[in-house]
Amino acid sequence: MKKLIEVRALEKCYAHYKALNGISFDVREGEILCFLGPNGAGKSTTIHILSTILQYDGGEILFEGKHVKKHARYVKRNLGIVPQDLAIYEEVSAEQNVAFFAALYGLKGTQLQQAVDEALQFVGLLDKKNEKPKTFSGGMKRRLNIACAIAHKPKVIIMDEPTVGIDPQSRNHILQSIKQLQEQGSTIIYTTHYMEEVEEISTRIIIMDHGEIIAEGTKEALKKHIADEERYFIECEHITAGVEENFFKIEGMKEVTIKDGIIEVVVLKGVENLDKIITLLVNEGMKVKNIMSESASLETVFLQLTGRKLRD
Ligand code: ADP
Repeated sequence: MKKLIEVRALEKCYAHYKALNGISFDVREGEILCFLGPNGAGKSTTIHILSTILQYDGGEILFEGKHVKKHARYVKRNLGIVPQDLAIYEEVSAEQNVAFFAALYGLKGTQLQQAVDEALQFVGLLDKKNEKPKTFSGGMKRRLNIACAIAHKPKVIIMDEPTVGIDPQSRNHILQSIKQLQEQGSTIIYTTHYMEEVEEISTRIIIMDHGEIIAEGTKEALKKHIADEERYFIECEHITAGVEENFFKIEGMKEVTIKDGIIEVVVLKGVENLDKIITLLVNEGMKVKNIMSESASLETVFLQLTGRKLRD
């Protein structure tokens, strides 16, 4: 895939605090690139720099091979930005909102009208075009925010947590729209706190922590290379007191937790010990009612890499 944006050794300091510590990555044409990281990791700083609304202190960024600092107008025209905080006018119609942003990008006359209608249609708000956003639900406002960012048909759309605090139906609508935009050829850069959104839409993920990139790849690749654990949930008719100790005699055992009548066991992947676990349960006279295994999730990958849960 063609590299649309190349970021090399990017640095950003706030006073004496280094928020970005020389990060490098590419954005490839047609991908949905998701940024994940705990609070303070540097995601917003990265996104704001890519959006050209924040200056950087070191490194370089190329957009289609052009230096961003020297070709700022060209870059801005090819970006669509969906900010975290709504950037819409409550007191003018949905149509006028989208037209205002499209005009900023140089669209005029019938071309402008057509672009506005297409964008509103795309986010499912064409029938509300004459209504004012002050009457809209949170989800509808978010969708209008997206229409404002895409009317000029940018090559790259940058979305900073666009689904925070909205109802599941609007959220689903937005996620489907993002996939549709990608299918139509747009490149999307996306940040979120919701792991399930990353599972659903990402084609590639960059995980950040402390101003650095600590892993990148497709969700499948990240899970395969990093998650080396297997998790079992075992339900028994009764649980013998102190049985935990015996589990730790089994090779590859990492964690044992007993809660609400369920034994949760974490073992090293690749060590074939399920038969030993079952033998132990039988020897203890603990009749097994159910065993469930959970394969690696992005949450596990994230936890292993950063030592934290995403929403800690
Ligand atoms: P994230 O989006 O991953 O939560 P940010 O990019 O917002 O992370 O922040 C990275 C680090 O930079 C944090 O430690 C944050 O406190 C600091 N930071 C962000 N913006 C500013 C600012 N305007 N002034 C000073 N420090 C900032």
